[in-house]
Amino acid sequence: MLPQEVLTQSAEAIINFNNVGLSILEIGHRTSWFVDVIEEAKLLVKEFMQLQDGYEVLFLQGGATTQFMQVPLNLLGDAETAAYCDNGIWGSKAIKEAKLYGHVNVVASSKDKNHSYIPKAFTVPTESKYLHYTTNNTVEGTEWHTIPETTVPLVADMSSDIFSRPMDFNRFSLIYAGAQKNMGAAGVTLVVVKKSLLGTVPRKISSILDYQSHIEANSLLNTPPVFAIYVALLTLRWIKKEGGLVEMEKRAKIRADLFYNTLDALPLFTPLVAKEDRSLMNATFTIKDETLEAAFLEECKANGMVGIKGHRSVGGLRVSMYNAMPLSSVEALCSLMEQFAKKHG
Ligand code: PMP
Repeated sequence: MLPQEVLTQSAEAIINFNNVGLSILEIGHRTSWFVDVIEEAKLLVKEFMQLQDGYEVLFLQGGATTQFMQVPLNLLGDAETAAYCDNGIWGSKAIKEAKLYGHVNVVASSKDKNHSYIPKAFTVPTESKYLHYTTNNTVEGTEWHTIPETTVPLVADMSSDIFSRPMDFNRFSLIYAGAQKNMGAAGVTLVVVKKSLLGTVPRKISSILDYQSHIEANSLLNTPPVFAIYVALLTLRWIKKEGGLVEMEKRAKIRADLFYNTLDALPLFTPLVAKEDRSLMNATFTIKDETLEAAFLEECKANGMVGIKGHRSVGGLRVSMYNAMPLSSVEALCSLMEQFAKKHG
């Protein structure tokens, strides 16, 4: 979900970008117009993350899925071992890709209980090249509310909770996030990388997959997704205007509290995640009587609420409450759930 004003500004830019007489879809990516866009977006990312010197901000293509392979390709030598947390479908996919480039040590897994919780006590061997984890498990509805303690470089997939809360971003060596949940439209992936992490793997890397080449080219190695980067800039500006990450977190907590309190109060519904590990972005649950699921989805649809069906890999129901989701939408869903429970409970 994107803020209405971001949609309006994006639509205006498609007709006439910044009154230059061309569409954002037409301007050259090497014009000063676009270089200004990318520079401002980078500055906002650095400001939100309060990054110290030594980090580079990149806007790449191929989605977070490409990062599953680009991370180990750039960071993990054939004979080296990286530690991974296996806490959901996306983390598992990252593990599968990493195994193509080096050794993987799964140090924490929640597979035993269908990834319904976040593992708490685990050890990361100090010789691990890095520790990779997914900060928010989009499909399963769990979220890490603290950053794992480790002395090895931390790598995180933040695709589904990026910029939803303040974090100590300087504890990470590499962060990646597809833009399409909290910071824009599909087509661009944010990568924030500590430069000192690079250049340690003796492997030939094609420039399109080499972080170093993208750094040297300032994300303009080849034609970037100009429109998607522009929508990301508009969304970043919106986040700043609304009060930044502190405000995003405040709103996320109010939305999630309302939703989970409603869910817990209605015996017809069963939450899928341990209370302390519940995601502020994606709430997952089932209906006790499975035959009612289709009727519930129909009722939602009739009231203009779509996208509530759980991910195809796990089924059930999932409510996503990203940054731009107004509280009023969650209130409307909660009252629909209460009425549905009264009728069928
Ligand atoms: N990681 C997470 C946490 C995700 O939520 C997603 C997509 N929903 C991905 C990775 C994959 O992203 P993409 O489709 O952009 O490759």
